[in-house]
Amino acid sequence: MQNIVNKSLDELQSYFAENGLPAYRAGQVYSWLHRKLTFNFDGMTDLGQELREWLKEKYYIKTLALKHSVTAADGTKKYLFELLDGHRIESVLLSDDTGRKTVCVSTQAGCPLGCAFCATGRDGLQRDLETSEILGQVYAIAEETQDISNVVFMGMGEPFLNYANLLKAIKILTSKEGANFGQRKITVSTCGLADKIRAFARENLQVRLAVSLNSADDNVRARLMPVNRKHPLGALHEAIKYYIKTTGRRVTLEYVMLAGVNDRRSDLEALKRFCRGLNVNVNLIPFNRFGKTFKASSAATLDFFVKALLSEDINTIVRHSRGEEIEAACGQLAAKKK
Ligand code: SAH
Ligand code: SF4
Repeated sequence: MQNIVNKSLDELQSYFAENGLPAYRAGQVYSWLHRKLTFNFDGMTDLGQELREWLKEKYYIKTLALKHSVTAADGTKKYLFELLDGHRIESVLLSDDTGRKTVCVSTQAGCPLGCAFCATGRDGLQRDLETSEILGQVYAIAEETQDISNVVFMGMGEPFLNYANLLKAIKILTSKEGANFGQRKITVSTCGLADKIRAFARENLQVRLAVSLNSADDNVRARLMPVNRKHPLGALHEAIKYYIKTTGRRVTLEYVMLAGVNDRRSDLEALKRFCRGLNVNVNLIPFNRFGKTFKASSAATLDFFVKALLSEDINTIVRHSRGEEIEAACGQLAAKKK
C-alpha cells in the first residue's frame, strides 16, 4: 500500500485510468486531500461508498502528527513533529508586523552538510522527508492558522539534496486543484549546490531562490561550509548567473554575520565583488547563538555592511531573528529529544 498524500494529480489520474476510473474522480480525491485537507476517505462524501472502499484497499493516508508546539514572546511558534519511524523535525510559524504569516518548512530530518555555525548540521542526516511529510508541516499549521501568506524552505536540511520530493511538494502546494498557493510566495534556500541551482532554473517555476553565501572568500567559506569544497565560489557564481539569466528573477544572498570571521573589511570587499554583475539582494542575518566557536557581529558592523552595500546599489537588509528564545531562529532547529 502506498501513501496517497505522496501522489501528484498526474500520478493519481493515470492510476485511476489504469483501473477504469474517470480522471475527474482522481481530481476530486486530490482536492479533498490538498485543498480541503480531509485526511480520511470516509470524509470524502461525494465519492460514493464503492470508490471509497476501493481507495482504502489501494492506499492509506498519512500526513504528520504534531507532537508539541511552543510560542515565543514575539509570537513565533515552533512545531515539533514526530515521524512514523521516530525521527523528529521542526517547523516554524513567523508572524510579522504587517500581518504576514510565514511557515518555515524542513525538507530533511537533520542535514549532512555540517556547516560550522548551524545546529541542524551538528548530528548529520537522519533521512530525507517524503513529499507528504514536507506538505504535512504546512497542512498541520494551516489547520490552526487560516491565512498563511508565505512558505519558506529554510527549516532543517538542504532542500536541493531532496530535490524530487521538494519539487513535488511545491507542485502540489501550488496546483490549482490543490491549495493553489502562489508560487511567488514560496522561497527555497540552498547552501549553494551549483548543479541543482541550474536544474532548478530550468523548472519554469516562479518560486524565489535564496542562496546561503556566508562568505565570498573560498578559504573562509570552506571553513564555515564544507560544501564549498565541492561547489566553490566560482562555480556558485556561474550557477547564480545562469539562474538569473534563465528565470529573469533576482536571487537573495543570505549572509550570517560572524564576528571576526566573515565581517572584516576584506570580507566586505569580497562580497561586493561577488555581487558585481549579479541581480541579487543581500540579507544579512545576525548570528543566532549555537555552540562556542562563533560570536555575532556587532550592531555597528552590521550597520557598516548595510551602508557599504547600499552605496554600491546592492539591495541589502538585515533579517532580524525571531523566536531565538525558543530556539526557533535560523540555524537553531535541531529537534532534540525531550
Ligand atoms: N540548508 C539550507 C536551508 C536551511 S538553513 C541553507 O543552508 O540555505 C537556513 C538559513 O539559516 C541559511 O541561510 C543559514 O545560513 C542560516 N543559518 C544557519 N545557522 C544559523 C545561525 N546559527 N544563525 C543564523 N542563521 C543561521
Ligand atoms: Fe544544512 Fe543549511 Fe544548516 Fe548548512 S546551514 S548545515 S546546509 S541546514
